[in-house]
Parts: sequence; C-alpha cells; structure tokens
Amino acid sequence: MSVFTLPTNELLTGTIATEMPPQPPAAAPPPAIPIGKKEADEAMDYASCISCGACVAACPNAAAMLFTGAKVAHLVKLPQGEVERGGRVRNMVAQMDAEGFGRCTNHGECSEACPKEIPFDAIVMLNREFMRASVLGKE
Ligand code: SF4
Repeated sequence: MSVFTLPTNELLTGTIATEMPPQPPAAAPPPAIPIGKKEADEAMDYASCISCGACVAACPNAAAMLFTGAKVAHLVKLPQGEVERGGRVRNMVAQMDAEGFGRCTNHGECSEACPKEIPFDAIVMLNREFMRASVLGKE
C-alpha cells in the first residue's frame, strides 16, 4: 500500500518546450585589417606606458609630452586609431595645457627616466600628429 500520492498539478504534467526561442541573426565577422609586424610591435611598445609620471618628474619643465605622446602614438600606429585621430590629439594637447604641464625643450630626461623605455620619438610623433590635425583640421 502506498503511503503518499504524487502531485498531479500543471507543472509536473505540462510538456517541456523543446524548441529554442527565435535567435537574433548572427553578427557579421569583423573585417580583417592586416597590421604589419613592425607597426604592431611599435604600437605595443608605446602602449606599454603605465602612466607612472616618472617622465614628468624628471623633466626640468614638468612637461607631460612623453606620456601624452605614448598615448597618441600607440593609436596612430593601428588602423583602429584612425577613428577620431585628429580630435583625439587636439583634445589631449588641450587637456595637457589646461592641467598646467610645461612644454618640451628637448632635454630628453623623460625617456631616460621612463621605466618602460618609451622613446623620445613619442614626442616627435605627438608634435607631428598635432600639426597634422591642426593644419588639415581632421577629426
Ligand atoms: S615615465 Fe614612461 S611609463 Fe611613466 S608615464 Fe612617462 S612615458 Fe609613461
């Protein structure tokens, strides 16, 4: 003789849905943009800046151009950086000025002090990008 009975409510006797709900269409794969090894390596080198500020502390002018240059340069080297390229460098230089940092006068103490060995070329790149954006007026 059974001492209990199984419940027979709707939940236990209902059918289990076996069909998946409609799914959104699969996203198209991103376009493949080939990046040369040299450009990729340079971009990664500039991207290694850890924002420590040692360059600013070492600079007699308290310039932040090595730091800012590293941020600008690593994106300039990659196709992804083309978006807002001009506006980005103009905004970064404007913010650097607004924060009261000095201007580079080519002492080179910054790259000597940098623990990530960001080269002085980052400042050259920053100046070139700023000139490009200013002259061409590109976004
Ligand atoms: S010292 Fe080098 S790692 Fe540090 S903020 Fe300056 S550029 Fe970046």
